[in-house]
Parts: sequence; structure tokens; C-alpha cells
Amino acid sequence: MNEFDVAIIGAGPGGYIAALRAAQQGLKTCVVEKDQVGGVCLNRGCIPTKTLLESAKHINSLKKASEFGIKVSDFQIDALRIWQRKNQVVENLRKGIEYLFKARGVNFIKGEAKLVANDTVEVKSDSGTLQLKAKNIILATGSSPFELPDLKFDHKLILSSDDILDLSRIPKSLIIVGGGVIGCEFASLFSSLGTSITIVELMENLLSLEDREISKTLEMSFKKKGIGIKTRTKLESVKHKEIGVEACLSDGTKINSELILVCVGRKPNADILGLEKVKVKAEVKGGWIKVDDCLRTNVENVYAIGDVTGKILLAHVASRQAEIAVENILGHNKQIDYSAVPNCIFTFPEVSSVGISEAKAKELNLDYSIAKFPFRVLGKSHTVGETEGFLKLLIDRKTELILGAHIIGPDATGLIAELTLAMKNKLKAGLITETIHAHPTFSEIIPETVFSFLNIPLHTV
Ligand code: FAD
Repeated sequence: MNEFDVAIIGAGPGGYIAALRAAQQGLKTCVVEKDQVGGVCLNRGCIPTKTLLESAKHINSLKKASEFGIKVSDFQIDALRIWQRKNQVVENLRKGIEYLFKARGVNFIKGEAKLVANDTVEVKSDSGTLQLKAKNIILATGSSPFELPDLKFDHKLILSSDDILDLSRIPKSLIIVGGGVIGCEFASLFSSLGTSITIVELMENLLSLEDREISKTLEMSFKKKGIGIKTRTKLESVKHKEIGVEACLSDGTKINSELILVCVGRKPNADILGLEKVKVKAEVKGGWIKVDDCLRTNVENVYAIGDVTGKILLAHVASRQAEIAVENILGHNKQIDYSAVPNCIFTFPEVSSVGISEAKAKELNLDYSIAKFPFRVLGKSHTVGETEGFLKLLIDRKTELILGAHIIGPDATGLIAELTLAMKNKLKAGLITETIHAHPTFSEIIPETVFSFLNIPLHTV
């Protein structure tokens, strides 16, 4: 009865996609989840943050309504409603996944799973313990917020990203420790809601993994919005006050704040899996599960996908890894290609990238050209009143292939898809200019930038 072709542990965007694909391909499939379907992405990550950011976007539009000839004498922010809407969106999408599980014949099992042999999963649930036999097992247990040893979450004043997503109110002030993707998105959200923000970041720049010119531009934009930025700075200690906290920083300053949000990375959910018993190799550093490009672990028929592999901690990477793992279970020998992974940051303004940064191109001693084009030249930017930002392309001088694309500005997160497609399919940059792009749209920035690379700029001199 409890025998499967595939048993999947974790129903995040890795696990649930693997389950849907496997069942669609005729494999008898089960997925075990100890919490809610959709994983971090749907419940505590991508979807809730973007839903809250959408409310923030409406607030920002209201603030500049007069520019568009609309008089808004007053408006109020209903935090409770904003959070309720977020919860509703998440719940609707959860129901969608549950419906798909039923429609595709995926056996969904609620409980905490442990690997007890390379073909056996043990599940503990409210109704007892259950053993599942499976020809193949996919570990898709994801990751959790990383906790700093000297700044532990108390879930009241010192919060993780999970905690703040349940806040349902707008704090007066917030220190965000960590100026990476998650920290910067929360900074955009809460500063739009009226919270006074200070970001404390150890590295030289915010978004330290992005191209430096992009990070610098975001920093300037954040500063204009009144967001405080302390780079090359450490939060040394925290004192609890009557209301809130006082944070002492390594540059000697002291900041009072209602709350502290700590976003300094993620840790793998691998310690509770029984991996040692089955001898699945977890990398010594940090405990991420080691996989090859076919998503196989060192134990036969045991695969791992998503955040727990520590490769690239993004939902769309987890989902792609899921598809590859299922193809390999079906007997193919498919390898994943990480050369063109889009990275999207839903800050105000948005940021996105694919491929390598200029610093990396220099380090690799590549023969490249840089082409840049500002949004302010596009007609579309003026119609919507968003002229900030640019597209920067790194193009190989000899082959004309795109090595990296970096965008800051309106719809950066949507525009990166075209450049990802071009990179993945090794399209010469010139071909982009031979493709008709609709006018007036932000997509026109892509051929315009390539025209600059070809030394035949259209709308710039
Ligand atoms: P997860 O989504 O972490 O799912 C793992 C699941 O496994 C969980 O549901 C967990 O309960 C379950 N599980 C764990 N252990 C067990 C066990 N022993 N038994 C049973 N079940 C178990 N990525 C993007 O691409 N775009 C974004 O905009 C984005 N925004 C983000 C915003 C925030 C605030 C955060 C924190 C992350 C964001 N991410 C984003 C990252 C994205 O959420 C993750 O990369 C993605 O969720 C990883 O998917 P996964 O399937 O590997 O794991």
C-alpha cells in the first residue's frame, strides 16, 4: 500500500513541482510536508513579500497622484487589511497546489519525514508513525533564516523574515541587519509604509552580489527616499529599552529602534533528515546536501533539490532542479545548466540581473564591451513617470554573446526574461535589434542598448 516510485520530502517550489511532474509522467508519487504546501516561497517568502510590496506600490502611487492630475486630499493605510490580503493571496494559491495534487493523483501526506534507508521514509504525524517505501527519494526540505549567535531571534523585538511577515502592523522604526536581497525588499516595503529604516550591512555595498554600479544606484535611490544606510558596519550589541531597543554599531553610533529585523542568510533544513544514518553526504560547511548536476546525492536513488542543496537559493532554481531530478528518475541523463539564472529583486526601484558582473568579467580577463542605456530616454518611462535607472550589458567583443545583463529601473524583473532567453540560447546580441519590440514599452531598452554596443545608437548621441 505505502509503496511508491517517488517519495518527496518537502512541498515547496522544489518538492511540489517534482511531485506534479512525476505524477504527470505516470510515476506513483507521494509528497510529505510537515507544514503548509508551497514551502517558504508561498508561505514565508516570494509570494507574501510581493503581495505586501504591491500594497506599498499603491501607496507610492497615491503619494504622487497630483503629478498625474489627481487630487487625493487624504488617505489612510489599513495595515490589518494589507496583511489580511496577503494571507488571502497565500491561502488561494495554497488551495491551487492542493487541487493540482488531487487532479494529478499525487499522494499528499502531512507529517515530519525522516530518511531511514535509501528506499524508506518514516513519517511522524498526529495520527502516528508511518513507513513509506520508494524506489526513488527526493529531498526538498529547503532552508530557514540564519540566526546570528550574538543576535538571537526573540520573535518580539529581534525578528526573522518569518516573524515580520506576521507583524500585521507598521512599526515606527526598524533596523534591518543585512542589506542583501531580502533586507532591501523589506526596506522598500516598510519605508513606503512610513517606517523609519536603517540598514546595517557588513559589506562595502548593499546587494553585494550584484554589479557594483547597480548597487550604488540603488543606494542613492534609497538615500533619496530617506532610508538610512550603514555599510561596512556591524551591529555590535543591543540594549532593551522601555520601548524598543538601542543598537550599538561598530562605527560608534547608537540607534534607537522599535524593532530589529535580521536578514543575514539562510541555513539548510538538513539536520532532521536522518542523513547520517543513510550516509547522504552533507557538505561539512553549513550542512548543505551535496548533489551533482543531475541532482543525485552520493546515495543511489536519493536526489536533493532546492535550497537544501545550497546552490542558488531561488524558487525558480528549485523548480528547475525538480524537473531535472524527475527526468533522471525516468532514466534520462539530464544535467542542470546554471549559466543563465535570472535574479530579481523587487525593491523600489526594481533590480534584476543574469550572467556575470563587470567585476567578474575583469577577474576572468574577458574581452568584453559595456553598453548602457538609461530608462529616461524611453517614451514609456515618461508616460508612466518612472525615468530612474538603466540597462547595462556586458557583451563578448568577438562572439557578440551576452555575458551579463544588469537592470535597475521600472519592470526590471520582467525585462530580464528576454535577456535570459538570449543568453541561454546563445543568441548574438545583434539579433535582438532585428526583433521588433513594441512601442511604447520598457522592452525597447533592450534593442536600444544593443544599438549602443554596435556603435549605431538610435535615441542617444
Ligand atoms: P522551501 O520552500 O523551503 O520548502 C521546503 C519545505 O519542506 C517546507 O515547506 C518545509 O516545511 C518542508 N520540510 C522541511 N523539512 C521537512 C521534513 N523533515 N518533513 C516534511 N517536510 C519538511 N525566491 C525567488 O525566486 N523569488 C523571490 O522573490 C523570493 N523571495 C523571497 C523572500 C523571502 C523573505 C525569503 C525568505 C525567500 C525568498 N525567496 C525568493 C527564496 C525562495 O523562497 C526559496 O528559494 C524557495 O522557497 C526554495 O524552495 P524549496 O522547495 O527548496 O524549499
